[in-house]
Amino acid sequence: MSSKYKAMVLSCIDPRFQSIVYNYLKKKNLKGKYSLFTIAGSAIGVTSLKFKKWHKTFWDNIDISIKLHKIKKLIVINHRDCGAAKIVSGKKKFRRDIETKIHKVSFKKIKKKLKNKHPKLKIELKLISLNKKVERFN
Ligand SMILES: [Zn+2]
Repeated sequence: MSSKYKAMVLSCIDPRFQSIVYNYLKKKNLKGKYSLFTIAGSAIGVTSLKFKKWHKTFWDNIDISIKLHKIKKLIVINHRDCGAAKIVSGKKKFRRDIETKIHKVSFKKIKKKLKNKHPKLKIELKLISLNKKVERFN
């Protein structure tokens, strides 16, 4: 990943992942180069119909971040065992394959919408496990 571009990072509010996300971005030499937008579910929160009221705020913030901070990239960081994914699944038992699908759908939606609204902006899609492993989805 190139470190010369400023980015907006979209991540979840889950307390277990705050330092993981921070350290991951630091390792990628992005310290001081990103704006952080944190909302329950990360990409799930800004794409799922269950959280429809939240979507506009996110896209408004992207617009402002492009104007004010000249961001060139959106880095989306979802995580495993996410409470927002559980809400979307609506099931008591939360299967890993169902969770993966919910993350994939959210990535697909955010990628498509970003391409429509801001075709020049790059996007990176990540899913972090509880053991801090980072999976790429693009
Ligand atoms: Zn979460």
